[in-house]
Amino acid sequence: MAKYLVFSIDDGTVYDKETIVLFTRLGIRGTFNLNSGLSDYVWYLGDTPIRRLDHEKDPSLYEDMEVASHSLTHPDLAYCYDEEVIRQVKEDKENLERFFRRKIEGFATPFSSCGEREVGLIKSIQGISYIRLSEIDESFDFPLDPYHFKVTALDIDRALELLPRFMERQEDGLFLYAGHSYDFALAKEGYFKLETFIRAAKSCPEIEILALGEASSRIFKRED
Ligand SMILES: [Zn+2]
Repeated sequence: MAKYLVFSIDDGTVYDKETIVLFTRLGIRGTFNLNSGLSDYVWYLGDTPIRRLDHEKDPSLYEDMEVASHSLTHPDLAYCYDEEVIRQVKEDKENLERFFRRKIEGFATPFSSCGEREVGLIKSIQGISYIRLSEIDESFDFPLDPYHFKVTALDIDRALELLPRFMERQEDGLFLYAGHSYDFALAKEGYFKLETFIRAAKSCPEIEILALGEASSRIFKRED
């Protein structure tokens, strides 16, 4: 039986540091979806500044994690012309490959709208082998192809509620958690809940915690 748990964390903010410390301490690898065109960009969630990191200046944080593209500047792709959708992913992929000196093969869509036009354009880009959408699907079923990974849970409370059902499942499955590190940092006991969730999943011998690229390779039997 193949049961995979994946963490897909967006935006590359300063809060990733704490998440990666936790992942490293627990011996797991997650996927971090970064925007190469927004270095040091700050926006405010209420009164809290959310700063993105400068990945070119310091790529070391993500050394043991998978890095994937999250577009160059985080636009809503549904409102971009075809050429712009391609540019947003292709340039981001090329920048990230230069910063991190490795192949970037995944893409996670910014915001929630990624229709079949966008999927078709993105999968046509050389070297992109999987796409994570923002749509929720709590079934744990594998997607039909690697360009339609859906999200099982977008917040840690819901993830904790769903985990027992995933642990008891008697067939192959995928639990794909997607979100931002600041979701854990700003929520009450967010990191405590995340650690509880990971420890509970690790207590189940059938569950493997993998980066999304690795899970995709296993599910779709690709050779890396
Ligand atoms: Zn994002």
